[in-house]
Amino acid sequence: MRIAAIIVAAGAGARAGEGPPKQWRPLGGRPVLRWSAEALLAAGVSPLIVVVPVGDEARTAECLAGLEGWACVNGGATRAESVQAGLAALAGVEDAAAVLVHDAARPFVAAHHLVELTAALANHEGAIPALAVADTLKRRAPAALETVSRANLWRAQTPQAFRLGALRAAYAAWPADAGEPTDDAVVVERAGGRVALAAGDPMLMKLTYPEDFTMAEALAAQLQPAPALATRIGQGFDAHRFGPGEAVMLCGVSVPHDQGLIGHSDADVGLHALTDALLGAVGEGDIGDHFPPTDPRWKGADSTVFLRHAADIVAAKGGRIVNVDVTLICERPKVKPHREAMRAKLAELLELPLDRVSVKATTTEEMGFTGRREGMAAQAIVSVLAPG
Ligand code: MG
Repeated sequence: MRIAAIIVAAGAGARAGEGPPKQWRPLGGRPVLRWSAEALLAAGVSPLIVVVPVGDEARTAECLAGLEGWACVNGGATRAESVQAGLAALAGVEDAAAVLVHDAARPFVAAHHLVELTAALANHEGAIPALAVADTLKRRAPAALETVSRANLWRAQTPQAFRLGALRAAYAAWPADAGEPTDDAVVVERAGGRVALAAGDPMLMKLTYPEDFTMAEALAAQLQPAPALATRIGQGFDAHRFGPGEAVMLCGVSVPHDQGLIGHSDADVGLHALTDALLGAVGEGDIGDHFPPTDPRWKGADSTVFLRHAADIVAAKGGRIVNVDVTLICERPKVKPHREAMRAKLAELLELPLDRVSVKATTTEEMGFTGRREGMAAQAIVSVLAPG
């Protein structure tokens, strides 16, 4: 059976507080309207008619960009007029088709709802999702509070499903003096149609009040598929020459020495190698791209700034640092007495548990430039979990 659908998004949504009407508000990074439009189209609905206020056509096109199989028409002053505008847009669809009428303010419609509702149309003119009333109902009367029996009371939700011919005929027959129908099922019922109650779903909640958005955001976060994370490896290397001084900065810790390290910044080889490793893991160039040595701002700079910047780039790309491992290469100063302080400093800077941070040291057996004590070097390797 062909299934067409109408999403009614023409309301002003005054109860949902300040801001744009609720169908346009972001929910989990997508406008509220897009949630149900995507779900209905993915479930095979064709066509989908979106009924919006006059002037909101461009906004609708932006909201539904990239989706195919929908069209937009303008709504009327009442919900019933808007539904009828949607029905008019389905003029070319056969009476035997099913039509779903859905409120834009119920974002979490799913394919299984459509299956259950359209199955019920085999022997009914309409089918609606409905939840039994669970709370005790009270009526505030002038004299006293009255308790209303909730037996056999149901909360009607949307989407509501109908045989298209039955809904067309029912709206055509709705008496002008009958007032405003509050849903579509009542129109079909009044015309003598049989409407089945299908299983409702708390997920079909209607966003009505500002606090509803808080709950919907939590639900949206659970429904969004978590991005697939891949393990990435980055490595870095750095070297600096010894010069006059009384201490060297290594992994953010000042280590007393009879020389210093020469560099444009504080010449912290450990932090420079580690910064490059992080940038490498996420394909963001190297430390010189981000902090050019020609830039006077970085003269004598505290290299912890560089490391934090690289960590922020990783985080901004949705990445999470798994572990880091730094090897310092020198004959002197002796690193071992300061190693735990360096690990603690790196753990603090990268907000990592201590067991994910390693600092090691080695000599080169008096070979090469580090062996001749001309300078020192550092290597770093990191692993990062990042999308893609
Ligand atoms: Mg350097």
